[in-house]
Amino acid sequence: MRYALFADRVLTPQGIVEKSVVTIADGKIEHVSQNIPTNCEVIRLEHSILMPGFIDLHMHGRAGSDVMDGTIKALQTIASALPETGVVAWVGTTVTAPMNDILCALKNIREFIEMPQQIGAELLGSFLEGPYFSEAHRGSHPTNYLISPSIDHLEDILDHAANTLLRVAIAPEIEGAMKAFDWLAEHKIKTSVAHTDASFEKVTEAFQHGADCGVHLFNGMRGLHHREPGCCGAILYHNMLAELIADGVHVHPAMMQLSYRMAGYQGIALITDCMRAGGLSDGKYQLGIQTVNVINGQARTVEGSLAGSTCSMDLAIRNMVQFAGVPLWEAVQMATFVPAHYLNLSHRLGSIQAGMDASLTVMDDNLHIQDTIIKGEWVFTNNVNRHTCIYQNILI
Ligand SMILES: [Zn+2]
Repeated sequence: MRYALFADRVLTPQGIVEKSVVTIADGKIEHVSQNIPTNCEVIRLEHSILMPGFIDLHMHGRAGSDVMDGTIKALQTIASALPETGVVAWVGTTVTAPMNDILCALKNIREFIEMPQQIGAELLGSFLEGPYFSEAHRGSHPTNYLISPSIDHLEDILDHAANTLLRVAIAPEIEGAMKAFDWLAEHKIKTSVAHTDASFEKVTEAFQHGADCGVHLFNGMRGLHHREPGCCGAILYHNMLAELIADGVHVHPAMMQLSYRMAGYQGIALITDCMRAGGLSDGKYQLGIQTVNVINGQARTVEGSLAGSTCSMDLAIRNMVQFAGVPLWEAVQMATFVPAHYLNLSHRLGSIQAGMDASLTVMDDNLHIQDTIIKGEWVFTNNVNRHTCIYQNILI
């Protein structure tokens, strides 16, 4: 199957190109040019911006389902609900819970990925968020199940997840943390610091042991202080990748802008940290073994801690642009190239250029999702400005 998309603006690695054509063949981008092809269908996307599809490194659930449900049906529900938010690929994220529940969720992700064909957003692998956290900044992770890591334990986890385990988060100050960072690095699994009371020095030590990312910057960690830069300070100082929940609730827009000034777009990955209430109305929802109240879109435990979000990636982009004042091209990189590069997937995801997967998102001028395409297949549309045209062989 071969067709071309003719958009008003295309976000390429070089910048925003006006009136450009992206030709797609067999699920891949064949080329990007100013020349309209005559030997295939051309789809005109008016008042639209064509960009790489979004990648969510950290998400728990959506549309009533959660990774911790541990069923194929739950993963399918989430994957099917993500394209309407512009997401083409995601990392299924667990929470602190009884270990058997976590192992079951990890195994379920592996089995889902091993199925012959996925529908909806591509599940890339798993992210173990918990149980290796400290109580001081546990957020919504239940105290009873917080434990220290051991190699035996990690081996058990890897037995269940196999090569689909992409990421593990650990509080660096807990017993066995440095050994765990080393072991995970040897097994080519990316490590992050999270839900931690670690000092600047301790996070620096974790960084030296391979931890290269800070999970939801500012949340679940010791804050910035001029005499003790803490975990936030260490993440920014060492240019570790900073995950950012840009829902306007977890982080003030001024801090979103400050993070961008300090880390640059290259240093920030927008994540949603979305839980099962994403895309649904307020009410009571389950997160792991806990009940969470969602009021005005904010998910909190009964104690009042934020418990994931109901954010979507398109909203995160709008917030970065409209509230934090980040230029559109750079905000989009934080949801596309940056996470693709972090997961070593930038050879096929995260940018619009020849040879990449045709996993693309179309937004209107107000940054609302119009279309989502995954590996060349149209999986979502809301686009009233889309039509097929016959063109002569002309330059735009
Ligand atoms: Zn968290």
